Amino acid sequence: MLGSMHGKHRFGLDYTPLFRFLLSKVGQDWDSVYSEAVARLDKDEPIFRLVALHTEDRKAYVRTGESSYFSGLYVDDDNLLVLVDPDLTVEKMKPWCPCCTHTFNGMRFTQSYEWPVSSSP
Ligand SMILES: [Zn+2]
Repeated sequence: MLGSMHGKHRFGLDYTPLFRFLLSKVGQDWDSVYSEAVARLDKDEPIFRLVALHTEDRKAYVRTGESSYFSGLYVDDDNLLVLVDPDLTVEKMKPWCPCCTHTFNGMRFTQSYEWPVSSSP
């Protein structure tokens, strides 16, 4: 019965497929990207977890889960979907704890956790 809840053309509660979809549309016309994305959602709110509507909301990366991150996006003056920080790659991301598998845009972090060095004995 579980299968019936997950139509193959709709995104489930895990928005990873939506975020991957948005990333795959970087550089394309926002209106068509938005209408294609929202057609698979009940509400458009999850889209704006990644896509910043206001300049002050733009983030280089967005935490989307316990230890998963995606690139922040916004819509530029030409109405194209673009990356907030095109130079940010998974190689530059630092894990913030030693126990979890951190991912950026679905790729595992390449840096390992740096244990804090205590200066006092
Ligand atoms: Zn952890």
